[in-house]
Amino acid sequence: CGIVGYVGLPTKTSGTHGALDVVLEGLRRLEYRGYDSAGVAVVSPAGVETRKKAGKLANLVTALEMDPLPAALTGIGHTRWATHGGPTDGNAHPHLADGDRLALIHNGIIENFAELRKELLAKGVVFRSETDTEVAAALLGDIYRGLHDAGTAGGDAAEGADLLTQAMRHACQRLEGAFTLLAVHADLPGVVVAARRNSPLVLGLGEGENFLGSDVSGFIDFTRRAVELGQDQIVTITPETHVITDFRGTPVQGREFTVDWDA
Ligand code: GLU
Repeated sequence: CGIVGYVGLPTKTSGTHGALDVVLEGLRRLEYRGYDSAGVAVVSPAGVETRKKAGKLANLVTALEMDPLPAALTGIGHTRWATHGGPTDGNAHPHLADGDRLALIHNGIIENFAELRKELLAKGVVFRSETDTEVAAALLGDIYRGLHDAGTAGGDAAEGADLLTQAMRHACQRLEGAFTLLAVHADLPGVVVAARRNSPLVLGLGEGENFLGSDVSGFIDFTRRAVELGQDQIVTITPETHVITDFRGTPVQGREFTVDWDA
């Protein structure tokens, strides 16, 4: 029941810490929330890659030692408390979509997943887990692909990030229930898009790097500057920018605070 996201400039990730180290440290800090599985995804020039394991974080760390992930500037991490589908490796997050180029993690419950699943099955989507989350991943992937192929793409990285943000906005308008969602895409190596409804999400602000967490303990080792996301908001982070909007796309001014407790 924890979520972490990270994007950093090469100077950050090649020096003191890589994206994966930051994400794993955040997940360790969030362990107190309880969980039954853990997983991570990184975005590198090779694309999106995930590792996920049922059980303790130690199982995931062992899996990562046996089968390391490439160095990356962008990463997301998840600890799961299973609600839909048992606590297995396959049901652990991240879940992939859009030809395995998009990875999504989720805390919460998508109440209308059955109806959405039926719709996506009719479109030919193949599901590999029993989770409500994979339905959200497939929905987001399908919307992103639609926007991309409609020709709005072909632009620069900022436009690409905008496309994934737009897709997240459309997806959130169709999702019912409680969710904190974080998505990354192989097209966008320096971007994480996140959304929240009835489930917590905090943004951490760094110098040349930005963080996301279910709470501030997800990034407390790296920055004390934080912004709490409001209900039904979306945030898109790159190493040097963060943009917050509501589900309709209206910009929102986040209020920054300083985390002053001792970690
Ligand atoms: N409902 C999702 C699942 O069962 C997410 C659970 C969670 O919050 O970790 O996979």
